[in-house]
Amino acid sequence: MSPLDVLTEHGWNRELRASVRSVEALARHVTLTDDERRACAHLAAHGGLPLTLTPAMLSLIDADDPADPIRRQLIPTTAEQAPDPFAVRDPLGEEGLEVVPRLVHRYPDRVLLLATDRCAAYCRFCTRKRIVGQGPPTTWEHIEAALAYIAAHEEVREVIVSGGDALLLDDERLETLLVRIRHIAHVDIIRLATRMLAFVPSRVTPGLVRLLAAHHPVYVLSHFNHPRELSDPAGEAVRRLVDAGIPVLNQTVLLRGVNDDEATLTALFRQLTHLRARPYYLHQVDVAPGTAHFRVPLARAQQLMANLRGHISGLCLPTLVIDVPGGKGKVPVYPSAERGRDEDSVTLEGFAGGTGKYPLG
Ligand SMILES: *Cc1c(COP(=O)(O)O)cnc(C)c1O
Ligand code: SF4
Repeated sequence: MSPLDVLTEHGWNRELRASVRSVEALARHVTLTDDERRACAHLAAHGGLPLTLTPAMLSLIDADDPADPIRRQLIPTTAEQAPDPFAVRDPLGEEGLEVVPRLVHRYPDRVLLLATDRCAAYCRFCTRKRIVGQGPPTTWEHIEAALAYIAAHEEVREVIVSGGDALLLDDERLETLLVRIRHIAHVDIIRLATRMLAFVPSRVTPGLVRLLAAHHPVYVLSHFNHPRELSDPAGEAVRRLVDAGIPVLNQTVLLRGVNDDEATLTALFRQLTHLRARPYYLHQVDVAPGTAHFRVPLARAQQLMANLRGHISGLCLPTLVIDVPGGKGKVPVYPSAERGRDEDSVTLEGFAGGTGKYPLG
């Protein structure tokens, strides 16, 4: 049984049901371009990451702007079919690092549990498009096997519940999972990774917040890519979590044509910080098939970070990371401040352009 089969009747469940899943339904909300229609037809004929948009995301789209940043994330174009020599089906080598199905143990002290294979909507740049929204469903048996592994491995201090989307589990399943994880004494931190705060903000009910807070320390890793995604309901969802003592960290994927400019990132990071959600990672897009058109050249990404550092509060600044293809782990890619070194000092350039020397020894 897929976790989605046990969804109960909540407001957020009604929102899921009201989601748009066909090009015909989509065309009633958005003026589609010929290219988008061709891409949707290709998807219908050949399969692939499903087309799904939730009411909350649809409401953010400017129906007549083909370059709309929300639309570009969720509505396919034929650019997805362009050949990409760097593309790999499993960009992060997760299949090789799965210790039991759906449990990735890449770093020594933390594991990634792919607790569902579904999302409320689907991002065209998804790293896990090989399994998300398609493929064999995740079952409770998978989760049982993962829990048994975690219980047997005392080095695991943190469990990252992801997917898919961790908050597509209904409260009952989630509670069972959290209780079971908390029964494992060596697990300290529980981190839930979700894009529901943007996709279906009504998912963050007072009941959900109580449930999470009953299993502290629980962190939520949200995923917002554009300031427009921080609608009033999304902001309220963040506030409810933070007010309950649940730290919200945000990851953003750097996407060409969506958020690859200083003004957009500044607005996004400042609004998140205002909501007390800490910008955590800014990801270079992973090399999943059909995502090359979203890639921002690395030099430009580093320049973006250099242009933000110092000019906006350090609280607003995430770490730019690349998840090294092949499952080698995330590495930060800083813009270098070094402008030269001699025997006993290094010359560093500050954010406003001036330089100074710092001793090497
Ligand atoms: C990203 C990731 C983590 C978490 O990494 P942090 O740097 O702790 O945020 C853990 N496991 C896997 C497999 C990951 O991809
Ligand atoms: S929410 Fe995350 S897992 Fe789901 S489609 Fe988007 S990027 Fe992929």
